[in-house]
Parts: sequence; structure tokens; C-alpha cells
Amino acid sequence: MKYRKLMLWMCFLLFSNVVFSNEIIVQNVSSNVYVLTGKDYGTNIGLIEIADKLILIDPMPGETHFYQLDKTINEIVGKRPSYILNTHNHSDHTGGNAYFKSNGAQVLETSPIADSVQAIGVNSHSSKDTLYYLKGSNILFVGDVYDTSWHPTFYSGGTKGFNEAIETILNIADAQTIIVPGHGPIANKAALVTFRDNTNAWIERISYLHYQGLSTEMIMKDEQALTILEMFSANNKSPVLPEKAISRFIDRTISVVESEHKH
Ligand SMILES: [Zn+2]
Repeated sequence: MKYRKLMLWMCFLLFSNVVFSNEIIVQNVSSNVYVLTGKDYGTNIGLIEIADKLILIDPMPGETHFYQLDKTINEIVGKRPSYILNTHNHSDHTGGNAYFKSNGAQVLETSPIADSVQAIGVNSHSSKDTLYYLKGSNILFVGDVYDTSWHPTFYSGGTKGFNEAIETILNIADAQTIIVPGHGPIANKAALVTFRDNTNAWIERISYLHYQGLSTEMIMKDEQALTILEMFSANNKSPVLPEKAISRFIDRTISVVESEHKH
């Protein structure tokens, strides 16, 4: 089997006006939408300006960079965020809620302007993942259902939840849709299809090796598993993950596989 890897840096090059402030990378992905990324977690933060409203998605640039993020936002749009939306309830995404709340923003469970920012619930990375689709600019924020800098993390929804979540995204997106992952370079539908196929190939391979009686240490040396793993990082790091992270990913995949095996 051949595993495909899409060159996400090519997508990155599409957004020519990448602005580097001190701590925050700014990508202008459409006339009214920006993706801001802090140094500490690499969380992709959405900044959306619609009429007089300014919406932030997952404002977490790192514990010591809230002021810098606030300042950068002010430099770009000249106003303060009015609403905060989160793709899920993990601190690397919600960590900045309190800061912006204390500066007047409102944290919302669902989109304040449902006709332009559609909120869609799925269950893959966490028990409550929300995708945000911006119809007007054809941009989809998907949180950690999709990560282009790390291995997949489908621990809440398992194989079923993962595939349903990806299917939901593929049904909304067309070939031009800008797909913003929770972390890592911005992607598109073709890259997501590859990610889905590699994820399923990974689960299948780990399941096979596990039921052959191989231990985690032995699985860590499996060429085929390692080849699949390498497909998950867009930045061509080698090794793609620290050893500890690989063994944890194998163990967590095994617990998903075992819990699904029982049903
Ligand atoms: Zn995350």
C-alpha cells in the first residue's frame, strides 16, 4: 500500500500576506478572516469580522501572550472581540477565554450569527467538538478533529466518531474550501481525505499487530506503522514524533480498538 502525503506548505504559500508580529503569526485567509497562531501551542486562532461584530475562535496563543494577541487583533481590525467561540473544551483552545471575557467579549455556546457562521456538532477528538463554517468566505474551522502538525486524536469518538466527523466536513466542503485545523498548516479537502485514509490505515495496522500479540515496544518497530505515522506531520520532522508520544499513541489506539472490539 502506498501512503500519500500532501505538501501542505503549498497551501501556506497561497496566503501571501503572512505578517509576523513578535509572537503571533497572522495569515489573512480572506477579506474578513484571519488565522492567528501563537508560539506556545501552535493553536490556530480564528479572527472573523462580520459587519460590526468581531468573533474569535479558540483564542489561545500561550499563557504569556494574551496581551500580544489582543494588540495584534487591534492592529489588524482596530477593535475588540465581541464574541468567543470554541471548537472544544480543552485548555489549549479555551485558555484565552477569561482574558477576552474580562475585556468585554462574550463566550458563546453557539454562533451569534448562524446565517454566516454555521456551528456543526461532531464527536471525535472530544465528546463535544464543534465545527464552524463561514459560508460567505468558504472557510471551515475544524478544531482538533484534524491536526496537520501531530498524529490524529480520535479518542472520544473512536473509529466511528472520527469517520463520521470527517464525512461531515467532506459534505460541507468543496475543492476550494479552506480547512483550518486545530494546529498546523491550513489545509483543503484533498489533504483531509489523505489524513482520513492514513488514520484508518493506522488503526487497521495497529489493530492487526495488537491481535497478533505484539507488545507496544514491538509495534513501535513495525516499518509499516512507522511509515503511516510519518504521513501525519506536515513539517517533515524526522523523527516525526518523540518516542514517548509514539508509544502513547499506540496505547491509546489499542484502547479504542479494544473498546470497539467488544461491541
Ligand atoms: Zn488542541
